[in-house]
Amino acid sequence: MAKEVISVVVSCYNEEKSLPLFYKELSKIFDNISKYKLELILVNDGSKDKTLDEMKKLYREDNRIKYISFSRNFGKEAAMYAGLVNTTGDYVALMDADLQDPPSLLPDMLEILKNEENEYDCVATRRVSRTGEPPIRSFFARAFYKIINKMSDVELVDGARDYRLMKRKMVDAILELKEYNRFSKGLFGFVGFNTKWLEYKNIERVAGETKWSFWKLFKYAIEGIVAFTTVPLTIAAVLGILFCIIAFVMIIVIIFKTLIFGDPTSGWPSMICVIFLVSGVQLFCLGIIGEYLSKTYLETKKRPIYIVKETEKDLEKK
Ligand code: UDP
Ligand code: MG
Repeated sequence: MAKEVISVVVSCYNEEKSLPLFYKELSKIFDNISKYKLELILVNDGSKDKTLDEMKKLYREDNRIKYISFSRNFGKEAAMYAGLVNTTGDYVALMDADLQDPPSLLPDMLEILKNEENEYDCVATRRVSRTGEPPIRSFFARAFYKIINKMSDVELVDGARDYRLMKRKMVDAILELKEYNRFSKGLFGFVGFNTKWLEYKNIERVAGETKWSFWKLFKYAIEGIVAFTTVPLTIAAVLGILFCIIAFVMIIVIIFKTLIFGDPTSGWPSMICVIFLVSGVQLFCLGIIGEYLSKTYLETKKRPIYIVKETEKDLEKK
């Protein structure tokens, strides 16, 4: 019987230092589970350092490796998608190159999926601690998960990493979702299937540094909300109605007050406050609508999610 294939997808952006370390760890693990065949798919997300050269070097040493190099930086979501598109394995794992996703968990994850009894289609990981992370970032991350889980039907798990092992049918389901604005954490939830969660303590990256600034994470969070719930639009509408009612009541009160008591004070400061508040709310709501509109705009353009510049096949031709 042919060996079952496990595809491992690794998205890399400026990971020249981490990649060789990652490869060493991963191949050690696969030496121990030699009944499976490894297919390692490295995606170079427009790195500005020597990541691509590292990939070529690894490819020359190991024919289990494939690599895809983008024409520019398309973001981790695009890189993961490109990797998934090119997998052929019966099982597919998504991993980071910085060893924050320990490859040592893979055999356990496989074991869980292989066990027919528990009917899991996917084993995902979440970190239960956020050590090594700035407290302010942890605070906002927690707040984000609370908010989005209240608003969206799709469940997002706090602390969930992208590190997971999936069966083929789940991967195919994810690939069916061809949207341009990809928010994988939500897509995994959207496609459903039975997921087993493994927990582990946060591990700091082996080399290089994180690519996520606070601002980038903030934008990512907004993207997640816009992609998976339209509740903010409803909130905007409800706020509008609420302000109309308040204004209507105030008008009646003022008319009667003027008729009974006259109008001795001019009320200028309070007027300005009200104008500021109401126009602030209006702009905020317009912003929300704009956010959805811009996503729709990008989606209708049907631009490719990523553009490939070269792969290992180009190297063979030379
Ligand atoms: N990454 C990527 N494209 C990007 C940013 C990051 O492919 O534009 C990759 C990066 O190389 C790493 C993974 O995504 O393998 C996670 O990034 P990072 O470690 O910076 O994020 P963190 O672990 O701090 O959340
Ligand atoms: Mg990392």
